[in-house]
This record gives sequence, C-alpha cells and structure tokens, in this order.
Amino acid sequence: MKPMGTVPREFAGQDVVMIAGRSASEWVDSAGDTPLFVYDSAIVAARVARFRAAFSDVDLHYAIKANPLPALIERIAPMVDGLDVASAGELAKALVVKSARAISFAGPGKRGDELEAAIRAGATLNVESEGEAARALAIGEQVGVAPQLGVRVNPDVELRGSGMRMGGRPSPFGIDADRAAALIRAIVASGATWRGLHIYAGSQALDPQAIIDTQRATLDLAARLADSADATPPLVNLGGGFGVPYFAGDTPLDVERVGAALGEMLDGRDAVLGETRFAIELGRWLVAEAGVYLTRIVDRKASGGETFIVTDGGLNHQLAATGNLGTVVRRNYPLALAHAMGADPTETVSVVGPLCTPLDRLGDRIALPHAEPGDLIAVFLAGAYGASASPAGFLGHPPAHEIVA
Ligand SMILES: *Cc1c(COP(=O)(O)O)cnc(C)c1O
Repeated sequence: MKPMGTVPREFAGQDVVMIAGRSASEWVDSAGDTPLFVYDSAIVAARVARFRAAFSDVDLHYAIKANPLPALIERIAPMVDGLDVASAGELAKALVVKSARAISFAGPGKRGDELEAAIRAGATLNVESEGEAARALAIGEQVGVAPQLGVRVNPDVELRGSGMRMGGRPSPFGIDADRAAALIRAIVASGATWRGLHIYAGSQALDPQAIIDTQRATLDLAARLADSADATPPLVNLGGGFGVPYFAGDTPLDVERVGAALGEMLDGRDAVLGETRFAIELGRWLVAEAGVYLTRIVDRKASGGETFIVTDGGLNHQLAATGNLGTVVRRNYPLALAHAMGADPTETVSVVGPLCTPLDRLGDRIALPHAEPGDLIAVFLAGAYGASASPAGFLGHPPAHEIVA
C-alpha cells in the first residue's frame, strides 16, 4: 500500500463527499454525466480573505493559467486586484471580467497579433526581451497607441525548493537582470508608458523561508534596477510561487509568516521604491483546493493478485493527479470513494483511468473501502492545472464537465 496526500481541510472528516453543501452524486446529477470538475468558489473566497489578512497593502493578482474557466474567472475577478494572462486567448477572457488597466500579459513568444491585442486594449505587456520590446513599440506606432510596458526580469535568484524553478539560470522567461536597466531606460525614452517590473522566481513552494528569502532578493533586485535605470517602477510584481500540499508529508504553506516578513521588508524598503506598489500573483494557491474531479467506476478487475478500479476519466482530464505533469516521482493525490468517504478502508486497489496507456493511473495501490462499478471516485486538489492542462483530445473521450459552485 502507498500513502495518499491529505484531503483539503474543507473536505476532511466528511462521511460522504460534499461540495458546497451538495453531495458528489447530486453534482453529477445536475451535470448530467461524469466525469466532472466541481469548483467551490467559497473556498477561493476564503483563500483570498486569508491572503488579505496576511498581507497588508500588497495587491493580489490571479494567474488565470491555473484555471481559465470563464465562469470561475468571473467569480474571482471582483475579489482580486489584477489578472495575469499568458496568451491572447487568456487576455480575451480576462477583458470580459476586468478592466485592461488591471490586466498584465507575460509569456515568451508573444506573436505580433497578441502584442497588438494587448496594446489596443491598454493591458500591460510584460516584455521578455529587447526584441519583444522593439516589436511592441513598432506596433504601438502603427496603431497609434502608446504601449503599457512592464519589464519581466529573469532574476539572479531562484526559489529554493520550488516545484518549477523559473529564475537564477539561463531562461526563456524575462530579460537577464544585468541587461534590464538598459531596457527600462530605452522604454522610458521611447514614450511608452512604463508600468514597472515583473519578477517571477518559481512555483509550488511550501517552505515559507524560501519564499521570504526570494522576496527579499527580489526587492533588492528591483531597487538596484530602479537605481541604475533612474526610474521608479509604478508596480513591482514580486511573483508568487505559493504551493499547496498535494502529497503525503507535504506541509501547508504558512502564508501568515510570509506576509509578516514581507510587511517588515516593505516598511524598510529602499527609498527608490518609496512610491512603488507591490503585487503577488497566485494561481494554484487560490484555486487548487477548491476543485474536486468526480469520475465513475466502470469496471473492477483482478490481475496478478492486485485489484484495479477502472474509472471513466483519468489523465485526459486530470493529468497532474496521474503524476505526468512536472513531477519526477509519481505520488498519490488524495482520493476518496465519494459515497463512503468516512468508511474504513478495507482493501488496497489501484484506480486507473480508461486510456490505453499505463500512465493513466489516478491512485497507485491505495487503501479504499470496497468499491463497485457505478460508484463515484473523488480526486481532490483538482482546481488548478486540471481540465485546461490535460490532453483532452488524447484517446478521443469526451471533455469533462465543469461546474462552479
Ligand atoms: C505559472 C505562473 C504563475 C502561476 O503559478 P502557480 O504555481 O499556479 O501559482 C504565476 N506567474 C507566472 C509568471 C507563471 O508563469
């Protein structure tokens, strides 16, 4: 038997999986079929409230790549100060629910039509290279709109212990710190509106001290750049990287400690950043724990002395839970037999999806109560990097339903 991660607090101790006051099978009835993602927006609101209490005078942005479902973005938009997007498609979704001034667009390889869409809308473009800045300025001339340009900096630090490092090394993201001041000067001189700095060092960190150290280094870097470019950034986006506990042994991030430390650092910040606003951009920390993926058991079979529970959904919708999205060692997300979550486990089973590949495994040798075809399996922590980050077309099964509660 192998361990599973811990069920998020909001669902822990339930006898039957309940999401926003309704049982898993009621949600399936209202969707009409499985597989199904249900996102509880009250859990997202609770995360936002916790952030607000922990961080004073720091803006909160939602990175919509974590979950771009329009109905969910619509709920989140009024709760946050900004939306961060990474494609023209995400930009279009963000513009439906937020004013362009509160939208920023980062990402390497922005095409000409993407730059133009952001410039025409008045959204901030966080440019990732000198070449991209030149393209944006040229498009601004053509369409007669001064671009709103931020500079994304590849920091000279990395976020320790983060699942995905995006700083401190050669990188496609942002411009190297030692060339950023020259680019800022060029942008300011060009007549574009300089919107500030975007510095993103990594993702999925659970160690508060690692985040605190990175934020300190990020503030130092921002002050050095402002000094040498002789320009105060209106906004410094400090990145994010707040992780969630997916696996056995993971400890939840102490965000209150991070907030207190950042408050002290901001109180003592360099005078050159005196007029600057600061933002933190979060994706998974806001939405991951709000989502549950529900899939129905189609078959129960024995092979080689092991029991396999075969469900109607798997890596085609929830790739991350099968260990195939950016993890080195496959470990189990928390799963439950939806109608008997509170029952004692009676057997060790592997829960596998319907795809014809051995990669499609939601639970590897986990302890569950006895499960039969027709029963529902709930996969927790399905609110981020689920439906939109999974290969829905692979093997030709229908897409999952998605409901915001
Ligand atoms: C992916 C990404 C995020 C969101 O990361 P999470 O781990 O979901 O918080 C934020 N900012 C940038 C620049 C990103 O690339």
